[in-house]
Amino acid sequence: MNWKRFAVKSRFFPSRWFYPLITVIVALGICLNTPLPSRAFDWLPILQQGFQAIQLSNISDRQEVELGKQINQQLVSSNIKLYRDPEVNRYVQQVGQRLVADSDRPNLPYTFQVVQDNSINAFATMGGYVYVHTGLLKAADNEAQLASVLGHEMGHIGGRHAIKQMQQTAIENGLLTASGLNRSQVLQLGVQVARNLPRSRKNEFEADQRGLRTLGRTGYAQSEMVSFMKKLLKLPAAGPAFLSNHPATGDRVAELQREINQRPTNGSQGLNDGAYKTSIQALLNS
Ligand code: ZN
Repeated sequence: MNWKRFAVKSRFFPSRWFYPLITVIVALGICLNTPLPSRAFDWLPILQQGFQAIQLSNISDRQEVELGKQINQQLVSSNIKLYRDPEVNRYVQQVGQRLVADSDRPNLPYTFQVVQDNSINAFATMGGYVYVHTGLLKAADNEAQLASVLGHEMGHIGGRHAIKQMQQTAIENGLLTASGLNRSQVLQLGVQVARNLPRSRKNEFEADQRGLRTLGRTGYAQSEMVSFMKKLLKLPAAGPAFLSNHPATGDRVAELQREINQRPTNGSQGLNDGAYKTSIQALLNS
């Protein structure tokens, strides 16, 4: 923070507001800048001190990973069932990890998990936590299509979309009161944002662009991002969940196609349909 500029600006603040305000800001600054102990860092007490909007928007990578982990525990314990086949999981992790170095936030510790659910969907929370449904794995034709979905979800993490959406939802629901959010409210909000709330059009376009660039850098065929979306659009009107919480798909296809035409990459990996089917064989047999 530029303290000098802040001080000049804040002479307009009535002093009875300014001094308590600056004390809290300094206290929070110290909390956030102090080297963290090696044990798990519980950032929630900081949230409970107030100024939650500032906290969610300035959250450090480490705090974000901790929050993603807690939301994951909540999801796995009561909202989703993980698909446990080790080979399919290893395969999805391998494809995901290939993309990490070429993603926009390569330093996060990414966690890719398969959810036992036949609806065609995928989602991400924060701090590197990406989830893909078994229904989507079955619907994809090849590895490049799977990579396009994982790349898109990593794009949401790259843009910190879930954090921003949690922040916005908390404000809309009047949760950001002086007494602060408690642990259960924060986790509920995280789960709600991950599972139920549609992403905004703007975030979808941004995640597509980020995902597309990642695919190109890794060497996957970018055209498969378009092919897979077109395939989903042709499915019956009740349609895949992926499209209902990742809206505006027709426009997105056009935009992706435009981007590919303007900046073509020569990536052609991940097009072997047979090899893909073999990799998820256990799932297809179940
Ligand atoms: Zn999305």
